[in-house]
Parts: sequence; structure tokens; C-alpha cells
Amino acid sequence: MTDHKPLVVLHDHLDGGVRPATLVELATAAGVALPRDDAAGLAEWLTIRAGMTFEEAFSRFDLVVAATQTAPALRRIAREAVEDLTDDGVIHAELRFAPLNHVADGLSPDEVMAAVHAGIDDAGPGCDARLIVCAMRHLPESVSCEAAELAVRWMGGRVVGLDLAGGEIGHPAADHRRAFSIAADAGLARTVHAGEMDGVHQVRSALAHCRPDRIGHGWRLIDECEVVDGRIVSLGPTAATVRDAGIPLEICLTSNECLGTDVADHPVRLLFDAGFRITLNPDDRAITTTTARRELERAASVHGFTDVELGACAARAAQAAFLPDEQRDALVARVSAGWPVRPARLVHLAQRARWERARGQGSYLPEEWDRDGFIHLSALHQLLTPANRFYRGRDDLVALVLDAHLLGAAVVWERGSDTVERFPHLYAALTPDAVLGEYELPAGPDGGFLLPGPLVQAVRSPLGG
Ligand SMILES: [Zn+2]
Repeated sequence: MTDHKPLVVLHDHLDGGVRPATLVELATAAGVALPRDDAAGLAEWLTIRAGMTFEEAFSRFDLVVAATQTAPALRRIAREAVEDLTDDGVIHAELRFAPLNHVADGLSPDEVMAAVHAGIDDAGPGCDARLIVCAMRHLPESVSCEAAELAVRWMGGRVVGLDLAGGEIGHPAADHRRAFSIAADAGLARTVHAGEMDGVHQVRSALAHCRPDRIGHGWRLIDECEVVDGRIVSLGPTAATVRDAGIPLEICLTSNECLGTDVADHPVRLLFDAGFRITLNPDDRAITTTTARRELERAASVHGFTDVELGACAARAAQAAFLPDEQRDALVARVSAGWPVRPARLVHLAQRARWERARGQGSYLPEEWDRDGFIHLSALHQLLTPANRFYRGRDDLVALVLDAHLLGAAVVWERGSDTVERFPHLYAALTPDAVLGEYELPAGPDGGFLLPGPLVQAVRSPLGG
């Protein structure tokens, strides 16, 4: 179902994606002892499995790092990473790595950066590859600051962001605050691995001290959400902050499974339905044996993501890319064009009294029509963003489920206000025969909205998307 559709990858570690056959060659040339010296055996050894400790899992990266301490080795793995992503249909990838991990044999940090840039250039233009520099949680803040300064020195071209990676437990993001200030002051985008191995407090610490534009993983936000009958019915304060600020989550299903959370138990569907901005990513292609496309396929097969929803994840990844505005807009347009599927059912939030009056008259135009010249609609997965932004706390709204086919060509997908996301706009009066049902949208105790079960059911079944 995802064949040939353009993908965007925001979370992919350069050292986690090295081809096993390449690693055999590079380690042998570097005199690094291998646990298995054939590509198939090494591939098996590299794969992280549930039950391993974080240290065991991390030893896979240690081997890759030991074997990639020269410029030719770095150049090669960068080229191969981009080739592999291109083959997978990825048109924009943000590869991340810790340059300061590659200076043990005498390369300077700038030589490391130059080698990786050269490798990306070697790969050709199929996938627009950018770089995110990782600071490491377990290292002192001074080292993180050095990484941040390196990233800032190289920003403006391929280098687009700073990340915080490594073991979370015992190493809060607060310890790296200065590094993230360096990045923020220079206008460099920021992402932080948080709420992956450790709890919600790590996301809180990242938000407070690193001002992240995106969160790496963040799935443990589910720990402070109340779930009833397969739906989030209330959000904790950190989760509410992340959702309402629209901070994208870089979700990595297979990677989390390797560390012990079965994909079937992953809260990706709950978080998506509650309005979080979900993007799907491979994390470590070699070490977790996955690809960008496979991550989407697993979301579809295990969590029932439709093509429309996968397209939304891809478009949201494009919207969250660390790119200058114009380039990001172009990427969003390419991704949106490549995922042409429009949902069969749309939703409009109407003022109940006004709609009820209009229903009898056979034609409905909301107040906003006079201002905007169109009626605001949403795909189901888009509904919560405008609802929580513009209508928080209101109790006079009704969600109308509409048959998109009956609305016909009067629906035009255009940018919403203050966002690069495209929303369906209706350029005609709404006639009651296009309305399949009316559903209550009760505000929660904090005034925020979540999707009520009957509304979700009405949109998704039997032919919704
Ligand atoms: Zn990661």
C-alpha cells in the first residue's frame, strides 16, 4: 500500500544503519575484532533483541564507531546510508550521528564532518540528506557544548539540527542545557531523545531545558494519559503540552520493540487518535533490521493505519523537517502530491444552534463564511488541532460527519492558517444531504477536546479513512 509513495525520515542514526557487509570490511581493515566475521552472522549479532540491557544494545554502536574512525570509512557509510534510503523511497532524510565519537584515531571534528558531507555528495541527488549532530547524555556538558558549537559552525548547508542521544536513565536533559542554548541562540533546530527508555519526567526535563522542536520517541507520554476502551480520555500535563504545542514525535516502532515493547502494545494509535503529531521512523536500520517503508507497513498491519493516515504521518514529517521555510514547503508539496488519497469522510465543527436552524432551511453557511469565503473542514486526524486551538472549552459545538463525494469539487485542500498543513476547505454552502451524522464533542475538564468514540466509528467505518 505504501509502494512508490515518497517518504520522509526524521530519525535515523548513521551508525545504526551501517550495512553488515560493509562493517565486516571496515572492522577488518581497522583491526577491530568482530564477534562474527561473515556478513550474515554479523547482521544477526548486530540485531538488538528484547531482553538485552541498554549497555548490551549500545555495544553494537561501539563496534560500528570503532570501525569508522577514518575519513574514507565515514565517507563510505554516509554514501551507503543515503543510497539505501533512496532505494527505500525516502526523498528527505535527516541522518544523525555524534561526530565527536569519531575522533579517537586522530581525525578532527571538522574532518569528520567533511567526510560525512563528501559521502552524502557521492550518493547523488535521489534523497535530500541532511545531518543532525548528536550530543550524548552520558558525557559531560562541556562535550555536548563542543558538539553544539561544531553543529553551529556547519549549519546552513546539510547540518540542520542538534540532538541529545544515549542512555536516558540517570542523565536528564537538564544536564545539557548549555549545549541547547548554544544551538537555540544560533537558530539551529533541536530534537531530544526523551521518553524512550525512561519516563515522562525526561520529556518534561527536555521541554524545560532544551526547547526542542521535536521529541525523539516520546511514547512514554502514554504513562500519564488515562486510557479507557482503547482511547485516551484524558491527558497528563506534559502530554497536553506536547500535543497542544504541536511538537512532533519521532516514533520508531521496531526500535522500541527491540528494547522490549511489542509493536502491538505500542501506543502509536492512541497518540495519533488523540491529536499528537506522529511521524514514523526507522531509528537504526541495521541494528533493528528495519527500513523507513517497513515502519509504515507495520503501523498499517498492526495498528490499522489507513493510507490517508500514513499519508498524514508522511506529510507531518515533511512539515516537521528542519529546513528553511521555502524548502520545507516544497517538500510538503512533494509528499502531499505523492500521497493522493483523500478521506471519504470529512468533519466540520458547527455551532449547534446555527446548524439546527440551517438544517431546516436546507443550506448552511457558518459565520466564518463571510470572512473566509469557505467552510472549514478537517480530516478526522486533523480535527483536534483547530478544535483545541480555536474552540477550547466551548460546549455549543457539534461535529458533522460529511460524505466527501457528495461535496464534490467544492472541496479544495489548502494550507490552514498559521500552519503548512493542508486542510479541506468547502467553497459552497453545506447541504444537509451531505451530512451523514451529528456527534457531540464534549470538552474535557481542562477545556480540551479528544475524539469521542462514536465520532471515530462514524468516520472510520465502513468506508472511512
Ligand atoms: Zn534514536
